Amino acid sequence: MACSYGVVYPLWSFADDRGAALERIIDETGIDHVSIPLVGGIVDEFRVEPSGGPHYFFSSGGWHYEFDRKRYESLALKPRAADWLGKRRVLADFLEFAAKKRVSTAFALDVRLGIWTRSEPVRPPQRNFLDEPVEGKGPCQLHADMLDLTQGVLTELAAFGPKFLTVAPWPIDETDGLTYYRMSQVAPIVTHGLAACFCSSCRALAARADRSLDLSVTIEMLRDELSRFARGERTATDRSDVIAKNLAEYQRLRVEAYQSICTAMHQRCAPTQTRVAVEEIGSAVATARLCGSDVPDLEIHEYEGEDAETTLRALQFVGARGWAFSIHVGNGTPGEAAPLVSFVSRLAEFSPVSIDFVDVDCAPRRVVGWIKQAMRFARRSESL
Ligand SMILES: [Zn+2]
Repeated sequence: MACSYGVVYPLWSFADDRGAALERIIDETGIDHVSIPLVGGIVDEFRVEPSGGPHYFFSSGGWHYEFDRKRYESLALKPRAADWLGKRRVLADFLEFAAKKRVSTAFALDVRLGIWTRSEPVRPPQRNFLDEPVEGKGPCQLHADMLDLTQGVLTELAAFGPKFLTVAPWPIDETDGLTYYRMSQVAPIVTHGLAACFCSSCRALAARADRSLDLSVTIEMLRDELSRFARGERTATDRSDVIAKNLAEYQRLRVEAYQSICTAMHQRCAPTQTRVAVEEIGSAVATARLCGSDVPDLEIHEYEGEDAETTLRALQFVGARGWAFSIHVGNGTPGEAAPLVSFVSRLAEFSPVSIDFVDVDCAPRRVVGWIKQAMRFARRSESL
């Protein structure tokens, strides 16, 4: 199947000039699809040559489209409209525009970041083994309320018939910069325990599983280890091993839950192709392992100029069904077309499902010419 080429184009830039700049891009390059980020976190952009709006754009994030409020009435968590949106029906305008221009659409969403306001307490928070909310790690993606909301958004958006739907990955037991320093002060096995979420939903996953994991015993052991550390006592190795084994089992149960979410997403959204976004190759490998045989397409947010050979070698270790690449062409792009043209051609050798050019609305207009060249060159080598 031929690679589908597209640009990532946010609706705030589309709204500024009613699609005039995007229309020029489509006409000049002949792209197949336009990807729009519809749900996400903080946006902080500088546009070199804005078409209509100001150079600088900031949003505290949320839902960047006119979502159907009625759909979410019965849910515990509700979408929050992005601050710039107002009463505009910008998704409807965009879909009409895309139909007229005969380009496919693709949507991207990160519900976890979209719901996280940063100015209010996190809902639903991840909880540590001491049953305290951990604000710095954001909402728990496996929490039942989050899953209901994610499912609601996917269902709403799949109905518009996008070609691709990309969701953010699950940041499994991630420690953020803020908590890391504090955690590095305590015993390693306690640190290990602090990285996991023990919210009611995560704990219920362990309770439902037909396994021998007794989570409350593990939690008691972790609490005890923290007290021992405070008193200056060392952890016995065998005890540490038991806790580590239980934590690994706990993570495995939650990974399985994530896998079934990916599978359900695929089934619910078909024939739209669903995929998981990853930042770079390292996380592509991790996500592929996470998803197992159910791995959807992976969308790799690759940076222009990164070593393509390393990229390509790493891809061979991952068993995803398909690949998609996102290439940034924004403010940091060097001043000539050649590096982009050769990079796109090399990526195209790996038969990706799609290649998206990101930050086109922020980049100088001359970059559109480079995209056109890169696509023409890559398509020519594809057809050989
Ligand atoms: Zn949780």
